[in-house]
Amino acid sequence: PVRVRFCPSPTGNPHVGLVRTALFNWAYARHNEGTLVFRIEDTDAARDSEESYEQLLEAMRWLGFDWDEGPEVGGPHAPYRQSQRMDIYQDVAAKLLDSGRAYYCYCSTEELDARREAARAAGKPSGYDGHCRDLTTEQRAAYETEGRKPIVRFRMPDDAITFTDLVRGEITVQPENLPDYGIVRANGAPLYTLVNPVDDALMEITHVLRGEDLLSSTPRQIALYKALADLGIAKETPAFGHLPYVMGEGNKKLSKRDPQASLNLYRERGFLPEGLLNYLSLLGWSFSADQDVFTIPEMVAKFDLADVNANPARFDLKKAEAINADHIRMLDVKAFAAACEPWLKAPHANWVPEAFDQAAWEAIAPHAQTRIKVLSEITENVDFLFLEKPVEDEASWTKAMGKGDPAALLTTARAKLDAADWTSPESLKEAVLAAGEEHGLKLGKAQAPVRVAVTGRTVGLPLFESLEILGKEKSLTRIDAALA
Ligand code: GLU
Repeated sequence: PVRVRFCPSPTGNPHVGLVRTALFNWAYARHNEGTLVFRIEDTDAARDSEESYEQLLEAMRWLGFDWDEGPEVGGPHAPYRQSQRMDIYQDVAAKLLDSGRAYYCYCSTEELDARREAARAAGKPSGYDGHCRDLTTEQRAAYETEGRKPIVRFRMPDDAITFTDLVRGEITVQPENLPDYGIVRANGAPLYTLVNPVDDALMEITHVLRGEDLLSSTPRQIALYKALADLGIAKETPAFGHLPYVMGEGNKKLSKRDPQASLNLYRERGFLPEGLLNYLSLLGWSFSADQDVFTIPEMVAKFDLADVNANPARFDLKKAEAINADHIRMLDVKAFAAACEPWLKAPHANWVPEAFDQAAWEAIAPHAQTRIKVLSEITENVDFLFLEKPVEDEASWTKAMGKGDPAALLTTARAKLDAADWTSPESLKEAVLAAGEEHGLKLGKAQAPVRVAVTGRTVGLPLFESLEILGKEKSLTRIDAALA
């Protein structure tokens, strides 16, 4: 059975790279009716925070992910927060030391740096040189007497390591590029290099799917796994698959500190979880050659690691928004209306939440649903319904009124609108059309000043439906105000 894991460290805000990794693991688990383990890698007290942990959980829920083992749901390998598993790591480190798979290393940072520089200058590999590999009891005692506090270092095998990456195929790394590495700090704190593979082993993870940035740690982890297997701690080594880098602006790797990478940015813009996930799934995977838009259940049904591509993927905000727009269209109108309400009921520039009118909103919602790309665009499209006066935008006004004699047109349009049937957008259209004809203007030109007078903007939702929903009295008052 497939057992995959999502194991973020709670540092900072969740970012899109993390979400893509979670998505691929989740989809792989669901596609294969396997198990998704959600583990929190919070062993770095200096960088981890409880706030970030809460945000991670909240983000996972917002995205619609579920997990079979992990925080809040528990499971046979609990606890799932590494900060609560310290005794396990201590125990494993002791066993590695006892069996000679790991050793105490007393080298100071300064000594390591100096020797690394010397090796570099001599054109030799600059990784750890094995200085403390085979210290005698006397040498160790001497270092202890000096007051040195050792780290624990894992003893790498002397042979090359070969594995088959699920995305990249066979990879071989030569021993000179695989120096012994630290697994426990001098203060006793276990490092990522130990706790991550130990937990993958104990939690019986079968497939490790993670970002390409971790590819270089894989041969070391495989070596550690073998040692754990010899000690009876690990069963089979998992298969590894490394998801391609995501490139941001200027074709640079999208870093987690990049503002463009922050999940919150997309939530604040009003991405739907399904739209964002649909887009993120395309970063390294494809649904089919001719289809970019699909539902998440459709993605799960089709998700296969064979379709994951090793080439870097480019993050394209325009495309992300276009896909999100399609997901907005897919909602039923009630769900769409509900999804927009947080924007309509929150105060911000140009916006008076108290003015929100449920009936008017429900009437306009179907027209808005076919036009916006992200939910945050809703306010600029419907604010004219709720504001006392439309937003004032000098530029729109100049643009719409620049040609011809807008006052004359508006005066005629007002009179014809006054006589029209306000229960029918068709009738309102006829009125503006007729006014335009009198002034030698086509409908497009004739409706522009009406739109600006009533909504304050040059573009927006279909005008005649908008007028009908706003109502005769308010609409005519606004035209009068524009004429005054
Ligand atoms: N906690 C690690 C990270 O967030 C997990 C890496 C892995 O998937 O092995 O980078």
